[in-house]
This record gives sequence, structure tokens and C-alpha cells, in this order.
Amino acid sequence: MSELVVQALRKSFGPTEVLAGIDLTVPSGSLAAVLGPSGCGKTTLLRIVAGFERPDDGAVELAGRTVASRSVDLPPEKRRIGIVPQEGALFPHLSVDRNVGYGLRRGADRGRVAEVLELVGLAGYGDRMPHELSGGQQQRVAVARALAPRPSLILLDEPFSSLDTGLRAEVRADVRAALSADGATAVLVTHDQEEALSTADLVAVMRAGRMVQAASPRGLYLAPADLGVANFVGDTVLLDGTLSGRCAVTALGALAVRAPMPAGSAVRVVVRPEQLVLTADGDGVSARVRDQVFFGHDALVHLELSDGAVVTARSLDAAWAQPGLDVRLAVRGEVTCFSSQ
Ligand code: ATP
Repeated sequence: MSELVVQALRKSFGPTEVLAGIDLTVPSGSLAAVLGPSGCGKTTLLRIVAGFERPDDGAVELAGRTVASRSVDLPPEKRRIGIVPQEGALFPHLSVDRNVGYGLRRGADRGRVAEVLELVGLAGYGDRMPHELSGGQQQRVAVARALAPRPSLILLDEPFSSLDTGLRAEVRADVRAALSADGATAVLVTHDQEEALSTADLVAVMRAGRMVQAASPRGLYLAPADLGVANFVGDTVLLDGTLSGRCAVTALGALAVRAPMPAGSAVRVVVRPEQLVLTADGDGVSARVRDQVFFGHDALVHLELSDGAVVTARSLDAAWAQPGLDVRLAVRGEVTCFSSQ
């Protein structure tokens, strides 16, 4: 059992309130991503959990034990927390084996070093020195070192930010697999929404020192708590609408609404670009193609509606949708609405 419970955590530096009452529960064995823009307080939260900073109020409980509160301040080394920092975490003069075994007691199970190196995909690399490893391999070693003493919690502070895009996806998928194979409870701090959605079991979105929403990646993307979260966790097409029954009447037609709201209300409607379906002569409203941006795996097509509004559709096969062409545009699936008031 190593659940993390953060309750009503507050922290100010001088007159600046950085954490304004943060609540977060990370169930045992799961990975939570703390996601938010720069300066929202993510690192401060992580530092309080680790014991490097004291909260002004609130509490941190780990594996059923209070480790920080107004009256309790367990030193970092007694909290059984493993930390994976951004980069440069390895001791340059120690081999991979000795780096990974650093936190293990003398005489402890040396088999554990080989076990965690295998978990992160580096079996057989024990004799190498850090400078003989790539950046991705070094971060894998840092994760193995954090896992080795079987801590109650692993904290990862933007651990993939120094890796280039292709490598980052591969390393984070492997690290994710290693953490879950070892049954670790983990908190990953990131400002990269794709990283949070693709890696975590639970995504906690922070804004200006507050926790705005904590939900599964799918729940967050499909049912964001407000427009700010909707925009932060993905691209949006925003439309004005009026509710009528279970539909919002918009410039793209009557769209099925995910959660019912009072009829007649004026709403802002959030549609994801991949929900827009482009056809030559199918269902939907008419629109004219303005231009498109090709990404390889898909393309973003900008379209002008009859009222002059411009919307963006994400399409897997849009080679035919050339600028100036009149097309039909329909919306697939349900949409999310927020009151305009
Ligand atoms: P980033 O993604 O840029 O790392 P963050 O969300 O992790 O940002 P924090 O590093 O927690 O944000 O910082 C939140 C705010 O607290 C910032 O305005 C920062 O300047 C301030 N802050 C952090 N640590 C201290 C400190 N020791 N003394 C004074 N102000 C601090």
C-alpha cells in the first residue's frame, strides 16, 4: 500500500501564494501526471511531497503515514521517495551498476540492480560509464536507480524534456512499462499535454496554484471541467450555440451534447478537430476549403462556413480538399458545452 494523499496544501513565498489549497490522491501502483503551464506551482508541489520544502498548511500522507503537515516534517531521506530529475542525474565517476545500486544498503540483494536494469531495457549495460550512454539511456538508468530501493513513491520532474521528440515517446513508453511492472506509485510533472495524456493513469491539471481537474486521460479530454482545460489538453473548435433538448444548435448544425444542460441556454460548444468529417457531398453543412497544413500522419484543413466563421478539421485523408473547393462538413460524436454566462 503506497497511496499518496495531498490535502489542502498551501504554500507562499513572501507575498506570493504559489499553492492555494491543493488536493490530490494518487492510488497505490498508479502514475499521476501533474500538468500545467510554467509557473503554476508543479515543482513546488513536488518539492513539498519530497520534503525539500515545508507547506504553510495542509498535509501530505504517504502509505498511510503523514510525512508533512504543520506539525510533521519527516526528512526527505526517511520518506522512501525515489526522484528522477530532468537530466544530469547520474554520478559521472560511477558505473551504471554502481549508480543504480547507490541507494541500496551494503549486502542488499544485488540481484535487484540487474532486475531494475532489465525493467528499463538496459540488461547488460552495468559496466558502462554514464558518458558511454545516450541521453535516453541515461534517463533509463536514473529511473532504474530510483526504483532500486523499492520506494513508496517515485517523483519524476520533467524527466523527458531534454530528449528529442522521437526518442522521448520511446523512452517514456518504456519507463511507463517499467514503473507498472514494478508496481510503483509515481507522480510525473510535465507541461506537455501529449506526454500527460499518453503516459498517465490520472492527469491532474493545475492552474495558478489550484487543482482545476483530476481525471483519467480520456475523461479529461472528452469532458474537460472548463474551457481553459479544454484548450490546454488539445485543439478545440469553439462555437456559439443554444441548447434544445439534448442538442446544441450551432453553425455546424444540431450537435449531440455529452452532459445535459437547461434548454434555451446560450452555450460555448467545444468540438475537437478530429470530430469534423469532411466529404465531397455527404451529410452536414456546406463549407469552403481555405487551406490545409500537412503533417504526414494527418492534415489540418481550415474551412470557412457560410457565416464567415473559420473552423479547423483534422483529417487523415484530405489530399482532395484543395483550397477553394466547396465541401460538406459534419460532426461525429458528442460535444461538450459550457454556459456562456
Ligand atoms: P515550471 O514548469 O516553469 O518549472 P512550475 O509550475 O513548476 O513551473 P514552480 O517552480 O513551482 O512552477 O514555481 C511557481 C512559482 O513560485 C513561480 O512564480 C516561482 O517563481 C515561485 N517560486 C518557486 N520557488 C520559489 C522560491 N524558493 N522562492 C520564491 N519564489 C519561488
